Amino acid sequence: MVWLFRSRIINSIIRSKAPLVGSYVHGDSCCSSVISSISRPFPKFMNWLKTDGCHTSAVASLPSFKEKQSEIPDKGLDVGNMAETDGYLNLFCLMKQRFLNFKNHKYIKELEHFQSLAEAQYPKFMVIACADSRVCPSNILGFQPGEVFMIRNIANLVPMMKNGPSECNAALEFAVTTLEVENILVIGHSSCAGIETLMSMQEDTEPRNFIHNWVANGKVAKLRTKSATSHLSFDQQCRFCEKESINQSLLNLLSYPWIEDRVRKELLSIHGGYYNFSNCSFEKWTLDFKDCNVKEERSYVVKEKELWC
Ligand SMILES: [Zn+2]
Repeated sequence: MVWLFRSRIINSIIRSKAPLVGSYVHGDSCCSSVISSISRPFPKFMNWLKTDGCHTSAVASLPSFKEKQSEIPDKGLDVGNMAETDGYLNLFCLMKQRFLNFKNHKYIKELEHFQSLAEAQYPKFMVIACADSRVCPSNILGFQPGEVFMIRNIANLVPMMKNGPSECNAALEFAVTTLEVENILVIGHSSCAGIETLMSMQEDTEPRNFIHNWVANGKVAKLRTKSATSHLSFDQQCRFCEKESINQSLLNLLSYPWIEDRVRKELLSIHGGYYNFSNCSFEKWTLDFKDCNVKEERSYVVKEKELWC
């Protein structure tokens, strides 16, 4: 029975591949919504739609979808680079090809695993990383679906509990109290524009925008950086603050009682990570909770420090 059930699932998924490709213009509700929502700011894309008769019934006159697909060779999960595509159509064409390649080369091959993920998730990690497009943790650390509950924000900051609600602490609460993750990993990176903004903000002026308001969560790290590195250049101070802010975020995690309680009981560990993309190295360390002074000095000690290069 189990095999019969799995066979039906496999058949339905394999059958669904054909309409997915053929319905690009007429039947694909996802693409339809894309088309309706991008008509004004994407004139090139709309020109192509007019040329191809997208909104008419002249399906046979559609000249180029197969050609455009054939422009993207099937290389397994590696199907090219968005920076090398020409025009909005090709961006979505490439995105669709990547999705179908994921489906064909990963989802179907690991069907049982993905079917179980559809029922529930049991990630061992919560990751907080920067929103920067160059530092996707799933790419650089190979996280697979179901392995990590993740949030990304500017400068990978964790606000203190007293700063009030944010999407960051909402995600933390769910990961820790519901999913009961065993590890929280805060990942920073080199040349972080968010940290540079934090370091260049004037102390005595009101935050001017959402970005300033957000990165102000790292002001303790900034003050520590300024006092420790006043003899260094601004760039060197920023590199220092990129790591100092990670450690301040690790301490800030402990301001949430449901995190501190689980760390104290050794049910949860909190770690820092730093990705340097100029030399492709990764530093990993773990907060030594027993030797940290969280309440008074807010000082920290780290252990198990490693450099992967
Ligand atoms: Zn960043």
